[in-house]
Amino acid sequence: MKIYNTMTRQKEEFVPLTEGKLLMYVCGPTVYNYIHIGNARPMIVFDTFRRYMEYKGYEVNYVSNFTDVDDKIIQKAAQEGVDASVVSARYITECKKDMEDLNVMPATVHPLATEEIDGMIEMTGQLIDKGYAYVAEDGTVYFRTGKFKDYGKLSHKNLEDLQAGHRDIQVTGELKESPSDFVLWKPKKEGEPFWNSPWCEGRPGWHMECSVMSKKYLGETIDIHAGGEDLIFPHHENEIAQSEAASGRPFARYWMHNGFLNIDNHKMSKSAGNFFTVREIGEKYDLQVLRFFMLSAHYRSPLNFSAELMEAAKSSLERILTAADNLTRLRDAARAGAMTDEETKLYEAADVFRQKFGQAMDDDCNTADAVAAVFELVKYINLNASAEHTKEYLQKLYDCLHTLCGVLGIRIEREAQLLDADIEKLIEERTAARKNKDFARADQIRDELAGLGILLKDTREGVTWKRV
Ligand code: AMP
Ligand code: ZN
Repeated sequence: MKIYNTMTRQKEEFVPLTEGKLLMYVCGPTVYNYIHIGNARPMIVFDTFRRYMEYKGYEVNYVSNFTDVDDKIIQKAAQEGVDASVVSARYITECKKDMEDLNVMPATVHPLATEEIDGMIEMTGQLIDKGYAYVAEDGTVYFRTGKFKDYGKLSHKNLEDLQAGHRDIQVTGELKESPSDFVLWKPKKEGEPFWNSPWCEGRPGWHMECSVMSKKYLGETIDIHAGGEDLIFPHHENEIAQSEAASGRPFARYWMHNGFLNIDNHKMSKSAGNFFTVREIGEKYDLQVLRFFMLSAHYRSPLNFSAELMEAAKSSLERILTAADNLTRLRDAARAGAMTDEETKLYEAADVFRQKFGQAMDDDCNTADAVAAVFELVKYINLNASAEHTKEYLQKLYDCLHTLCGVLGIRIEREAQLLDADIEKLIEERTAARKNKDFARADQIRDELAGLGILLKDTREGVTWKRV
């Protein structure tokens, strides 16, 4: 498999540190609001990459953090008059809901920055001991970029240019030795959350958290570190400097970065009004459509979001779901018995689409071409599945479609197509039936939903439900 490595600016053969295993870290969101559809892009594309690696037989250890201490969280908490942890806990819960609706698998571990402060203090201390960091008069700890000879290697920036660039915008009163030095630990301001440290009461710099969590949950050297392209500099560059200076070992062997999502060809911006949360899109569409839309492009390309493109994605996805529905119907009505020779040949011929799918994914996770291979399979199914065929043959075709769509994180089962709104409607109908003492109908609705993996619970406050 080939992966485009931002560090070398080339597609490289992927060779894992340990055969059959993948250690991967993906920078997660800062939780001060509902996630927006730009945040969803790295979640979806790297989740798809992970699913593909698991499909290939890799045992994947996938770590993705929540940044739960940050200026924006503190600001929001101040506006609401609550503790910062109230804001972050709320949006972590909401983010996990969105991830579930986007069919993004939970990470092996979702560490929280605030629970890893000890590790950050420890690494900061190591960097000071090794001369890679220094404590300024006010207790701020800075990384000494001039001491790390590879500084700039990921973003392909040159330290002198960086220093010259920074000099123009240097804030007076800063106590840095050099304008490109960055913060590892900073003193608290009035009313902010803080932790004790050997240098001052305060909190860690943002970059520190990913270095520490990656090391703790995956080890000093990992296979792949990923995130949006805006993180290349300074975030990932600074993570490399911290981690490699502390351990003396390479930090990550491959760096993957997704391109940006724009809206109507403009940068997403709240103030300009072109900004959508995942939740807002979820009110209009099954979020599978958003997932499918994102995977229809290459993850490194910029991607434009618009109402028309979402509608197009919806009808494309519908073609796949309709084919799956037809197959299910045919299969359920089909005669039993072993596949005929002709069917065996037909089924074997469909393998070409599975191969095409694999080739596309092996080429730097080219989901656009992988989706095209799924459409070829759908066309083949539409031409080669009919009421004359055996159950076994139809089931095998279904399994093939199901597997490939599963790698993309697209659910083709009928129950997955049942929107929350449809479920709520059925629940309302059941409640009405019970009121009218039509218990037969009420039970029928409950059983129907149960058959689709929806469990109802009658509570004093009303009916709650969950997918199982
Ligand atoms: P943040 O919460 O800003 O740290 O972002 C979390 C993740 O979302 C990072 O990997 C960002 O690079 C990514 N991200 C933010 N905005 C966009 C966007 N418009 N398009 C694609 N990725 C984005
Ligand atoms: Zn990070």
